[in-house]
Amino acid sequence: MCGIVGYVGPKSTVEVLLGGLKRLEYRGYDSAGVSVITKAGALETRKRSGKLSVLVEDIDKNPLGDANIGIGHTRWATHGAPTDGNAHPHLGGASQKLSLIHNGIIENFAELKSELLEAGVTFASETDTEVAAHLIAAEYDASGDLVDAFRKVVRRLHGAFTILAVHEDQPGLVVAARRN
Ligand code: GLU
Repeated sequence: MCGIVGYVGPKSTVEVLLGGLKRLEYRGYDSAGVSVITKAGALETRKRSGKLSVLVEDIDKNPLGDANIGIGHTRWATHGAPTDGNAHPHLGGASQKLSLIHNGIIENFAELKSELLEAGVTFASETDTEVAAHLIAAEYDASGDLVDAFRKVVRRLHGAFTILAVHEDQPGLVVAARRN
C-alpha cells in the first residue's frame, strides 16, 4: 500500500494534497495523481506515472482551479503497468463526475468487471480499481446519495484496501473506507 490523502477545508487544496503525498513518498510508488472539485464546481484531475515531481511540473504547467476539496494518491501498481492511464484517480460513470483512488487490491475485480462490461461500460485503464469507480457512479446515479452508494459498493468488494472518492455534485464530501 502506498499513499492516500483526502482533504476538505479552507486551505489551498492542491498544496495540502501534494504536501501529504510528499510526506508519504518514503513508502515507495510508481505514479501519482490528484483530483479536486474547484470552487466553480468542476472536477479536475491530473495524474502521471513517475515521481511526484513529474506531477508537480504538470500541475505547474496546467494549474488546477482553486478548491476546498480533493483527493491525492501515490500508486504501487498491482493490476496494469505504471502508465499515466493506469495512475489514479479513476473516473466513473458516463458523466465522469466521480473520482476515486485506491490502495490495495480488489480481489473479485474480474467478476465485477464482467458485470460492468455486459452492461456496456467502457474502461479507460487495466486496473482493478476502476470497477469501484464505475459501480459507485452507477449507484449514485440511481440514488443521489453518495454515502449510501459508496457503502453499498464497498460491501461488494473483497480484499484489503483503502478507497477514497469525491463526486462533482457533492462538493463538500470525501467518502472513505478501509478494509483489513
Ligand atoms: N491495485 C491498484 C492498482 O494497481 C492500487 C495499487 C496501490 O496500492 O497503489 O492500481
